Amino acid sequence: MKQRKTPLRKCTGCQEMKSKKELIRIVRNDEGEFSLDRTGKKPGRGAYICPNSECLTKAQKSKGLERSFKAPVPKEVYEQLLNELCGEENE
Ligand SMILES: [Zn+2]
Repeated sequence: MKQRKTPLRKCTGCQEMKSKKELIRIVRNDEGEFSLDRTGKKPGRGAYICPNSECLTKAQKSKGLERSFKAPVPKEVYEQLLNELCGEENE
C-alpha cells in the first residue's frame, strides 16, 4: 500500500490541517522581522496560514501567530501581511 506523502501543516487562523502548498508561510528571522515566505526556504521560525485575510484576522484574534512564534506580533505586522495577501487576491 502506497500512500502519497503530502506534508500537512496547520493554519494558525482556522486551525485546519492543509498541505503546505495550500498555505503560506510566515517567517520570523533572527532580527525579529516578519515576512511572507513564498518559497518556503527563508531561514527562521515559520508559521503557516491560509492565504486569505479571513484566516489572518482569525490568527490575530486568537493570537495563533504569537503562540507559534513565541513572541509578540505587532499590529503593523498583521497590517503588512494583510496588505501582501490582499494585493495578491486582487491581482
Ligand atoms: Zn486557515
